[in-house]
Order: sequence, then structure tokens, then C-alpha cells
Amino acid sequence: MVSRIIPVEDFDLVIFGGTGDLARRKILPGLYRRFFAGQMPDEARIIGAARSDMDQMGFREMVREAIFEFADKKYQDNKKIDRFLDHIDYVAIDARGEAGWEALKGKMRADVVKAYYFSVAPSLFGDLAKRLQSFGIADDKARIVVEKPFGRDLETARQLNKDLAAYFDETQIYRIDHYLGKETVQNLMAVRFGNILFEPLWNSQYIDHIQITVAETVGVGGRGEYYDKSGAMRDMVQNHLMQLLCLIAMEPPNKFEPDAVRDEKLKVIRALQPVPAHHIVRGQYDATADEPSYREDAGDPRSRTECFVALRAEIANWRWSGIPFYLRTGKKLRARGSEIAVVFKEAPHSIFGPQDAKSPNVLVIRLQPDEGMTLQVTIKEPGPGGMRLVDVPLDMSFAEALGDEVEDVPDAYERLIMDVIRGNQTLFMRGDEVEAAWAWTDPLIQGWIERHDVPKPYDAYSDGPDDSAMMLHREHRRWREIR
Ligand code: NAD
Repeated sequence: MVSRIIPVEDFDLVIFGGTGDLARRKILPGLYRRFFAGQMPDEARIIGAARSDMDQMGFREMVREAIFEFADKKYQDNKKIDRFLDHIDYVAIDARGEAGWEALKGKMRADVVKAYYFSVAPSLFGDLAKRLQSFGIADDKARIVVEKPFGRDLETARQLNKDLAAYFDETQIYRIDHYLGKETVQNLMAVRFGNILFEPLWNSQYIDHIQITVAETVGVGGRGEYYDKSGAMRDMVQNHLMQLLCLIAMEPPNKFEPDAVRDEKLKVIRALQPVPAHHIVRGQYDATADEPSYREDAGDPRSRTECFVALRAEIANWRWSGIPFYLRTGKKLRARGSEIAVVFKEAPHSIFGPQDAKSPNVLVIRLQPDEGMTLQVTIKEPGPGGMRLVDVPLDMSFAEALGDEVEDVPDAYERLIMDVIRGNQTLFMRGDEVEAAWAWTDPLIQGWIERHDVPKPYDAYSDGPDDSAMMLHREHRRWREIR
């Protein structure tokens, strides 16, 4: 196979919070895999910057351990890791003070791309942005990468945007949502806009409804108290689920370019209708014989924060008028899985008679586990016995079709970090998108606060509260099974 990996241009990447959980689990092992694949230039450098009083050697050992802990076995080659570690440096720094900044400045090279990854609490974003400027290391080639949560409501998101805009241009700000870096999510755009087959059917005339599910089997466990301050709506819906909704619902951009794509996504968010109370179901998991309930995990017996939410959204525009978008996400559900299901309308007339009427076509875009796409179609059951119909999935997952070439598909974080170096913002959220998303979610949250809404209890490892199934049942629909 001919390698299609094109090395990116030379860079200095600084990871603020380089000793933290996210850096160790995702960012550093991801960078190593890009190095392993041959995408990192020889001169490129990765500089950890965090509060811990550590030296270069100490940090390198931490990176090695992170690779052994979080990268796949096939990448665990000590010689390769040693060569990767040659690229790694460290500086102890205080985001809020002066310590470490001159040292960092001394390490930054003049004419290369400078990427500053803010893998720290959002309360430090403004301080970091300010110091990058005041220490003169934020030139035209500089860009910053910021993590979620981007605000906890419209007001705080606006403030964060302002804090960053004081020092960086929007073209230098990369707001990361790792869902957008997933292979299938991009494949969704390729399938929609690269084929003539789907787009003519992609509207209220042919689509009955759309389901977006992000289900987790884990509870909130050790971080319950922290989670209890946000909840499923803020933690998942406002960002990940809405981004997926945008990609499914947006109009074709005229080019696959950052602002063309993001303009179309923004229009979708702005066209979202307010959601009435009876179209939102919130829940909290109950205790099992050996595991605590959500409220116990959260350390508050009266917590009203939801760890499950299901809602019915509508987009008021020509294409989608009247079509429900059902969104749901939750903790401790039956299975772990994220998918988008586009459920088409039934054929207008069954020539085979009602007894053979089969399920409608469903296009399933699966994000995890086993990324891929399937299209459920009705065919004749092979063999004798007359015209018996059967539903089969037409598998469009790239793994089989493309064979070896997908061996080294980068994971979401890797791909997005390489996009930062390349200066491609297509898969990053723009400031106005984030604000528009909060402008839609804020009143929903405010609504349940004012109604003193109490989340419904649900059995751990189930499909969530019964009311969630009822919401669809009332409209003669049902959720797809969480598998
Ligand atoms: P963490 O608590 O594990 O690490 C925080 C890091 O920030 C440490 O390296 C620490 O040294 C550094 N730090 C703290 N105060 C500092 C200061 N004053 N100056 C310099 N460095 C300082 O946090 P994390 O889990 O790695 O998360 C980092 C960010 O990423 C947070 O905003 C979090 O919400 C977000 N995030 C994390 C995950 C995840 O899976 N961990 C997922 C999505 C988003």
C-alpha cells in the first residue's frame, strides 16, 4: 500500500496542562501515534507546560508511561518511543503568575507554527491568552486550542469569547469538539455531499424523523460532585449532540471550507425551535444492589441535575419543517453506543400486500463503538417460498471496503490536532456557533428550574426513564435499541 500520510509543517506545540488527565489519556498518546505514522516533521517539538515542578526527563518518563497505558499495544515500541521523546520538552509554569513564562519564551522558535493547547480549566483561558501576548509569543503563526466546557450558559460563553478575542483573532481560535474529529462524522459529510443518491431524499418529504443517541454505561462515579454542577444538557447536548444535529441537518455548503461549513451549521442552530416542557425528559439512575444511585454519586440526596436527557427538537426551515429530531444521552444505560439514525418514510404503497410490509429504510451512522454506516433496506428473502420480504443492513463501513488503508485511521484527537497545525478550522466550533447553541439551551434549562422539575428515576443499565419511550410512543414511533 502506498502511504498517503503527508507530514505537516514544522511546529512547536505547547500543552498547557500537559500533566493532566486529558493530556495523558488523549493528547500525548495521539501525538505519538502521528509520529509513529510518520506525520511529524523531524524538527517539531512538543512542550508540556503545567504547574508540576518537573524537569524535561521527568516529563518524558510521564509521557512514556502514558503511551504504555493508553496507546494500543502495537505502538508500544521502546525504540520508537525514545525517538518520539526526543521531541518532548517541559516547562513548569503558572498560568496566573509570572513563573515559567520567560523559560517558555526561550524555547519557542520564531518562524514555525505555534500551537497552544489549553488543556486546563476554562477559568485559566483568559490568563493564558493574555500572557501569551504579553510575553510576545503569540505571533501570526500562533493559534490556541480550547477544550470544553466552553461556558456554562450564554453569558459565560460570551465572556470567554471576549476574553480570548482580546488577544487572538477568531481565525486563531480552535474550539475543540472531538466528536467532529471522528472518521464517521466526516464520512457523513462525504456520503451526503459526495453522492447524488441521498441529497434529493434528505428532507421532510422522505424522512420521517431522526434520532441521535449518545449512550454511556458508566455512571458519574468519582467526579459526581463536579458533574452535578453541569448535567447532561450542558455536558453533552449543548455541544456534541448539537454538532451532530448540525451536520445532519445543514444545507450543502458551497465549498468544504471552514466558514462555508460553519455558516451552514450556524443557520441550523438558529432555526431550532424552543422545546416545550412535554418534549423534554430528564432522568437520574437508581442504585443497584452494589452500586450507588446518581444522587449518592453526586453527594447530594436532593440533587435535581439530570444525568439523562431525551428531547424532541424541531428545525423551522423549508427542508425540515415538522420533522422531529429526537436527541437522547445518558449515563449508566443498557449499552455504550453513539449513533445517528435517519429513519425514512415508508414506501407509499405496498405492492406485496400488508402482511409483507417491512420496516422503513434507516441510514445509521455509528460513531462508537465500531464506527461505520449501514443502510437498512428491504429485499426478497433468498430461496423458494414466494415473495417473502426481509430487512437487511447494507454495510457501508469503510473498514471492509478499503481494507488495509484504514489500518491507521487517526483517532479524533489526533486528526484535530493535525488540523490545528495545518490551520484548518473546518472541524472546530466558531464563537458564534457556541453562543447560538447556548442561546437555544439556556431557556430549556431555565424552564425546568422555574418549574422545579425533578428528574425521573430510572433503572441503572436500562434505556432511561419510561417517559422517554412514551414521548416517542405518543407519536407512534420508538427509539432504536441501545446496543
Ligand atoms: P486535570 O485536572 O487532570 O489537569 C489540569 C492540568 O492543568 C494539570 O496539568 C495542572 O498542572 C494544570 N494547571 C492547573 N492550574 C494551573 C495553573 N495555574 N497554571 C498552569 N497549569 C495549571 O484536568 P483534565 O481532566 O486534564 O482537563 C483539562 C481540561 O480539559 C479541562 O478544561 C476539562 O474540562 C477539559 N476536558 C477534559 C476531558 C478529560 O477527559 N479529562 C475531556 C474533555 C474536556
